[in-house]
Amino acid sequence: MHDILIQGGTVVDGTGAPARQADVAVQGGRIAAVGHDLGAAHRVIDASGLLVTPGFVDIHTHYDGQATWDSFLTPSCWHGVTTAVFGNCGVGFAPVRPGAKDYLINLMEGVEDIPGTVLAEGIAWSWESFPEYLAALEGRHYAMDIGAQLPHAALRFYAMGERGADHRQQPNPRELDQMAALAEEALHAGALGITTSRTTKHRARDGSYTPSLTAAEPELFAIAAALRRAGKGVLEVNSDFGDGDFEILRSAAEAAGRPMSLLLLQVDNAPERWRQTLDQIHAARRSGLDVTGQVGAKSIGVLFGFETSRNPFENHPAWAPLAPLAPQARVALLRDDPALRARLVSERPTDALTAWFDQAFHRTFALGTALDYEPAAEHSLAARARRDGTSAWALALDALMADGGKGLLLHPFENYTGGDFGVVHAMLADSATVMGLGDAGAHVGLICDGAGPTFLLQHWARDRTRGPRLPLEQLVKKQTHDTASVYGLTDRGVLAAGLKADINIIDFQALNLLPPEVAYDLPTGGRRLLQRARGYRHTFVSGVEVLRDDELTGQTPGRLIRG
Ligand SMILES: [Zn+2]
Repeated sequence: MHDILIQGGTVVDGTGAPARQADVAVQGGRIAAVGHDLGAAHRVIDASGLLVTPGFVDIHTHYDGQATWDSFLTPSCWHGVTTAVFGNCGVGFAPVRPGAKDYLINLMEGVEDIPGTVLAEGIAWSWESFPEYLAALEGRHYAMDIGAQLPHAALRFYAMGERGADHRQQPNPRELDQMAALAEEALHAGALGITTSRTTKHRARDGSYTPSLTAAEPELFAIAAALRRAGKGVLEVNSDFGDGDFEILRSAAEAAGRPMSLLLLQVDNAPERWRQTLDQIHAARRSGLDVTGQVGAKSIGVLFGFETSRNPFENHPAWAPLAPLAPQARVALLRDDPALRARLVSERPTDALTAWFDQAFHRTFALGTALDYEPAAEHSLAARARRDGTSAWALALDALMADGGKGLLLHPFENYTGGDFGVVHAMLADSATVMGLGDAGAHVGLICDGAGPTFLLQHWARDRTRGPRLPLEQLVKKQTHDTASVYGLTDRGVLAAGLKADINIIDFQALNLLPPEVAYDLPTGGRRLLQRARGYRHTFVSGVEVLRDDELTGQTPGRLIRG
């Protein structure tokens, strides 16, 4: 007698094999069989007309802090994610010396836009070493499995003290030894990898560059040596890939003898660089190195709104009295006062932010209820204003006042040089890439891409009109088998007998992202953007139902994965 029998569904098993009609039997938290006539079960789920996929493995999240206070890991739990890996991009909270918390918080706040007050209040800080941090995570139960990585910035600051915060400072031999020893200790304790950042986009709250920005060969090779000695773990890197960067990273991966995973995206000031990096990744793979590119499902875009971290009118003198109001009151006041609206639209303050918005309107769009994440240039606020003989500021104000003052503007700033998802298509179709730019849990005031797994399926397999779509089987593989493989998580990511029963049952026709919304549900009432979905009929983690009809069941079968 099986525990669960999922009957008559369309199985997309994560391997990329064609979708097929099959039943899936679950027993003792594992998949017992996939096929036909599998026998009786205590619970039978009729999945006819529904997709049955492996649970999604999101390897690029920033739940380092949230995982210490939230067992459900919203929003990922609403999007079929059954494994979340964090500690990415070189930032995180262990190891940490007593008294050094503030530095790590400021860095996380600056780099990943997670409010410092939330982190300061929300995190329990019951650890100093990385193994102690893992022990703290292990003490909780979750709606999904979690895996943590050792962040370079925390390691550096621990070994070098204040000097470690300055990327121009290099570690001395004693500090290098300590970094290598701590890295090895973290890997042996179960860190899934070591992560570092070499991008000028990452700055602490005080504006200083992320400490690992220009880490030189001795430092990278100390980390590589730890990976080699431990014989496990992945090197994850967020880099601008400036001159020589790929080469130094490649030799570090060679020295480590371990997989390397690199973030890949298109930036406006070097729109072809991602392609060169992808070519370099392919060359490295041909020479036997295990290197993958982590790509996104869409553009990297920020959302402007009356309640997100940025709003085009925030520096206008007439905005000040509106700022503290509740959304309803604010929009009522705006609606009833044409003179106020006219003032906001026609008088322009002369500050830099307002000037920035003025030019950004060429690539800023009303997100609208249709949630058009791939809008054509002619729909930008600036283009519409030109066409209609009005002001882009007036259109911006209208869009933000929509939906009771909860309207949002989308400003895609990466992966969107060409004005559509042509490059995203090329990235997703490539054999050397996996899904991995969601940043779930981060950038909470402006971005909400934790919903990436849903967008990937909805847009790329079903809804896209501005170019070719991609086969559903490939897309599922990209965020199940392929992401699990990057971290050697061979017990999941595919629907096959013996593997973990991490399973999604999805009404694919009904699958739908809901509009992002601002919530004040972080510790101390901290603000964040959240986005939910419709269409997830069931999500199972280790055979336990964590989501039913898009709502959490309250079950927490998820555990810390030790590498
Ligand atoms: Zn990141």
